[in-house]
Amino acid sequence: MGASVSRELIVLGTASQVPTRQRAHNGYLLRWDDQGFLFDPGEGAQRQLLLAGAAASDITRICVTHFHGDHCLGLPGIVQRLSLDRVPHEVPIHFPGSGADFLQRLRHASHFHDQARIVECPVDEDGVLATGPFGTLSARRLRHPVESFGYRLAEPDGRRMLPERLAALGVRGPDVGVLQRAGTVVADGRLVSLDEVSEPRPGQVAAFVMDTGWCEAAIRLAEGADLLVIESTFLETEAELAAEAGHLTAAQAARIATEAGVRRLVLTHFSQRHPNAAVFGDEAAAHFDGEIVVAEELARIAIPPRR
Ligand SMILES: [Zn+2]
Repeated sequence: MGASVSRELIVLGTASQVPTRQRAHNGYLLRWDDQGFLFDPGEGAQRQLLLAGAAASDITRICVTHFHGDHCLGLPGIVQRLSLDRVPHEVPIHFPGSGADFLQRLRHASHFHDQARIVECPVDEDGVLATGPFGTLSARRLRHPVESFGYRLAEPDGRRMLPERLAALGVRGPDVGVLQRAGTVVADGRLVSLDEVSEPRPGQVAAFVMDTGWCEAAIRLAEGADLLVIESTFLETEAELAAEAGHLTAAQAARIATEAGVRRLVLTHFSQRHPNAAVFGDEAAAHFDGEIVVAEELARIAIPPRR
């Protein structure tokens, strides 16, 4: 099970509202085994993917939280690139159903040979959106002036095999696979059950929360997450502005992570008022004891090793 090695977040950009000299519009590719979840591609996402060493064909699913420009203006380029590169697999796009007109315009923004297998999946309510070998993708409505959904990717809980127990009970070679599939196997004339040679292994969870003001849904999305990517647009000195605009301060983002029991907190979506993003990490650190990563363009952020 080398799966956790191939799970990481690639940050395409960290800017809210407008790109700056240092920051690209926000965008994120979550690599999850053989899947690639592209979240909120802002302007320039296509080129940022290239700089990050990722290909259009790495994208297997797109999740748009809402239709403010910094979260979706990269879609035309991405969609056309999927066609240009003749990406053969289906690429579902999840997006707030109330923004269906925006999606149509972004998908068909200009002439191109439309041959990608895009599947439009409007999100109209909280719940499960998709299940597969990657686990379960679900969404919850956040609190923002326009309809906005956060996303949660959760791998099912599994079991971790214990090599020393396997050896002790004489289970070896192909019998290990039989045991994993069937739940029991006969070894050295004795019936061995899976429980005897393995222990529970909680599935990994990644959550993606933006844009939103403080809300319960953000905490629920992030519940027990190994990795939480969350907007941290403002600082506490701008709390009033944040509340008005439906955004979080770094302190609020950190408190959401604390209440949810998050392991690794990734702050992003920074206001251009603050060219030095370190201030967001400093503020968050007073409200969250876990690991804090202040996102940077083209950073690769690992999902913490399995518990
Ligand atoms: Zn935004």
